[in-house]
Amino acid sequence: MRLLIEDYWRKAHLDAGYELLYTPHIANLDLWKTSGHFDFYRENMFDQMEIETQQYQLKPMNCPFHVLTYQSHLHSYRELPIRWAELGTVYRYERSGVLHGLMRVRGFTQDDAHIFCLPEQVANEILGVLNLTEQILSDFGFTQYEVYLSTRPGKSVGTDNIWELATDALVQALDTKGWNYVTDEGGGAFYGPKIDIKIKDAIGRLWQCSTIQVDFNLPERFQMEYVAVDGTRQRPIMIHRAIFGSLERFFGILVENYAGDFPLWLAPVQVRLLPVSDDQRNYADAIAQQLKQLGYRVEVDHSGDRLGKQIRTAERSKIPVVAVIGKREVEKQTLSVRTRQLGELGSLTLSELQEKMQQTMMSKQQI
Ligand SMILES: [Zn+2]
Repeated sequence: MRLLIEDYWRKAHLDAGYELLYTPHIANLDLWKTSGHFDFYRENMFDQMEIETQQYQLKPMNCPFHVLTYQSHLHSYRELPIRWAELGTVYRYERSGVLHGLMRVRGFTQDDAHIFCLPEQVANEILGVLNLTEQILSDFGFTQYEVYLSTRPGKSVGTDNIWELATDALVQALDTKGWNYVTDEGGGAFYGPKIDIKIKDAIGRLWQCSTIQVDFNLPERFQMEYVAVDGTRQRPIMIHRAIFGSLERFFGILVENYAGDFPLWLAPVQVRLLPVSDDQRNYADAIAQQLKQLGYRVEVDHSGDRLGKQIRTAERSKIPVVAVIGKREVEKQTLSVRTRQLGELGSLTLSELQEKMQQTMMSKQQI
């Protein structure tokens, strides 16, 4: 499932105009001093390690690496916006008392991305992030959200002008999207305004997942630049965003939301074939082989249990598609198919079953 989620995520991001980065898991401590994490985020960081007399730090965030990547050469305004995404594994020193299953762990993978853009591009970029967020969350079954806009706190960096521009851009994007939101006056980070999205699961619980933050601080700290139309050097606007937040945590939320009853495209085992007796085992194996070659995740029940028990076991395991294979099915080269949502589908050929599953997977629905 992790692989499926990651593959889906990569494709969605490439389609949305992102490039994918891979960055290291440790860096020289100097990087974390420049970024400010060493001063302001230290209690969440693991101890430094000494490597050949230099201090190195396990990364608590991916951001500084994306900044360094940006600084590999001088950028022109024509290259912006740049959208870089990474499934970046980060390490945070959470106290043992707050660790909680998949929900809170010490090493987790963020579906992180950073957008570097011109001030006049912010609203459109934010709208792009909102659209991508909606697309991704709804494909995973989440269609109800609570949205929060957090504005400038008392203590902050950045000019009045830039705060106003960025906050207006966030409001404009939310209005264009037509989403209702709650404004948290003064609730933004010291480095910029943000949008947080809580998703509502099947039984109404809210989970904070997606976040979009404008950042005036890191571009300043790292002296990031681009060459503007008039030839002057200007600071780009940096946007941090994550949609799942943490893949581990999002997976935990998915399990809760579906109660383990996953839609066909995500189910770890999509099809289980149930031979009625030993005589049908070879046929069942051959069908399984064909389905595997078509890319489906399929198993044959080789327990030797009576059919009724095989069916109950498959139901308990929440397998979306179960196909019974008896004497008649072998003779007619068919499968007797039942699904969790639709019940008995009767006698289908392999290609009929495949067509039905393909449609269901495309729509990300349950079968
Ligand atoms: Zn970031």
